[in-house]
Amino acid sequence: MADGDGDDELAMEMEALSYTYPEIEIEVFEPSNSACTEAGPAAAAAVRIDLRPRAARQAFVAAALRLTAPRGYPAASPPIIELREPRGLGDAREAALLARLAAEARDLIGSPCLGQLIELCQDLLSDANAPEGPCAICLSVMEPGPDDPEESSNRDGCTVAAPPALARLPCYHTFHTPCFERWWAFEQASCAAQQRELAARTGATAAAALAQAARPNPPS
Ligand SMILES: [Zn+2]
Ligand SMILES: [Zn+2]
Repeated sequence: MADGDGDDELAMEMEALSYTYPEIEIEVFEPSNSACTEAGPAAAAAVRIDLRPRAARQAFVAAALRLTAPRGYPAASPPIIELREPRGLGDAREAALLARLAAEARDLIGSPCLGQLIELCQDLLSDANAPEGPCAICLSVMEPGPDDPEESSNRDGCTVAAPPALARLPCYHTFHTPCFERWWAFEQASCAAQQRELAARTGATAAAALAQAARPNPPS
């Protein structure tokens, strides 16, 4: 296949991706621009898309998938696969997810596969949609509730106690909601107590004490 055909094929794949995923970011590199790869063959194009689990009531994992098509893709080289800003996955699940994507990319060598890799990544994130590890406050397991709230209230005609709700913070750290609320209330209360003690002992407010601490040390 001539180079020109490969470029046309890549352009068509990018067009199809931008149609299917309106939010996808696409970069197409000129053949002369080799500044875009750190190692290996020069990149022809790269895409990046933010992915979350499908149809989940609560997302405990998320990641941005970046796929770089090197020159020679798809006939000779698979895309380079990276997860950017993986959230809530932990190292082991992130590595497993990348390994699955890499295996799929190797199987699909010879045909345009970026869309299939995006779909697979989203499937894998959906399967992995549970908090990483136990609740760091009470150290017991965290069970995501069912996506359908009806499901937990009535099983075989008897009422089953629903597992405690989960609080996922913006950083994707997750705790049992009651554990987090107790800890938060305790922190707020102890902070207020410390502020009162500080004021009683020194007459200073916390803000003034912090400003004092931030000042450079006087020369000795
Ligand atoms: Zn807990
Ligand atoms: Zn956090």
